[in-house]
Amino acid sequence: MARLELRNVVKSYGIYEAVRGISLDIEDNEFVVFVGPSGCGKSTTLRMIAGLEHISGGEIVIGDQVVNRLGPGKRDIAMVFQSYALYPHMTVRENISFCLEQQRLPQTEIDVRINRAAETLHITELLGRRPGQLSGGQRQRVAMGRAIVRNPKVFLFDEPLSNLDAKLRVQMRTEIKRLHQRMPTTTVYVTHDQVEAMTMADRVVVMNKGVIEQAGPPQELYHNPASQFVGGFIGSPSMNMLNAKLENEADQLVVVLEDGSRLTVPAARAEAYRPHAGKAVIFGIRPESISSLPPRPGCAPLAAKIDLVEPLGPLTMVYFNIGAATLCASIEPESEPRPQTTMQLSFNMNQMHLFDADTGRSLALA
Ligand code: ADP
Repeated sequence: MARLELRNVVKSYGIYEAVRGISLDIEDNEFVVFVGPSGCGKSTTLRMIAGLEHISGGEIVIGDQVVNRLGPGKRDIAMVFQSYALYPHMTVRENISFCLEQQRLPQTEIDVRINRAAETLHITELLGRRPGQLSGGQRQRVAMGRAIVRNPKVFLFDEPLSNLDAKLRVQMRTEIKRLHQRMPTTTVYVTHDQVEAMTMADRVVVMNKGVIEQAGPPQELYHNPASQFVGGFIGSPSMNMLNAKLENEADQLVVVLEDGSRLTVPAARAEAYRPHAGKAVIFGIRPESISSLPPRPGCAPLAAKIDLVEPLGPLTMVYFNIGAATLCASIEPESEPRPQTTMQLSFNMNQMHLFDADTGRSLALA
């Protein structure tokens, strides 16, 4: 068990900086998920923590020790890869016991650890098989077993579920979370899938172009994204983003959209935004913050010509245009939306987001 600290960590490949000075404290037993688009530097960061990649600048601390100069084998970490990396000629038992034997642990201790891990991961009956005789999900469980038996200070996961089909991914994600609840261990998990990040993490770290955009509990990132990037990345379907202007109108503050629609900002939120009146802004509204029910206090009405309808069962997605932008709303199926008809929608302005049009930073935090 250990805390993990990244202090201004940099990774350069020649003149290209893949990781541009990131700092983060990860608590003992915390489950942190790094998420971001392909190429943002997540895997490089994980590989630097693992010791598989040389650090160009900064420090990595595991427990109380700066590990910059320690090789991967000396860092007391265990890593689970997307590719499983199992030895094909060894049985599951041999794959799991391999590193313990290298550590020269007594055979009785090895057996106890393997049996306990196999029980935890429901692979006891697979111990005699070879990887070629296992499904993708079973192989990933074996890879996790191999990590668990080492009782590492830190678990590192690099996109471990990417090779699995959608259903198995959901199942394994709950299993990994359950595993962490049963055996709390400091964990850093890398994925490009924001749903995986939201569902598994104590804290989500959103990376973009080699820097941390925002780190926080899933709900905080969802409700208070610090930037347009985080607002657009967290949540599915994505937050709608529209060019707009913030204007004073009598004693009210209104968001004026490109097509001239005027959406009143609720009084409770107006004070915080008033200093930005007159500015060009990005107006963000999540599909789930748009409803087909009659407007309630704090909601702004808008008539929309529906372009496309996608029934999902509990919700129906509708698409419509405002100016040049296409918006998505997840609305109540009972309202029976039909394409090419006009619908009265209401935007819950208590749940809107405003971002600086130049910097993309949230105006709520400015
Ligand atoms: P992610 O895991 O977020 O998809 P990576 O950490 O793998 O991204 O890569 C970050 C950036 O560093 C990418 O632009 C990638 O092309 C670059 N990169 C990664 N490894 C190397 C390397 N060995 N040499 C040069 N550039 C690299």
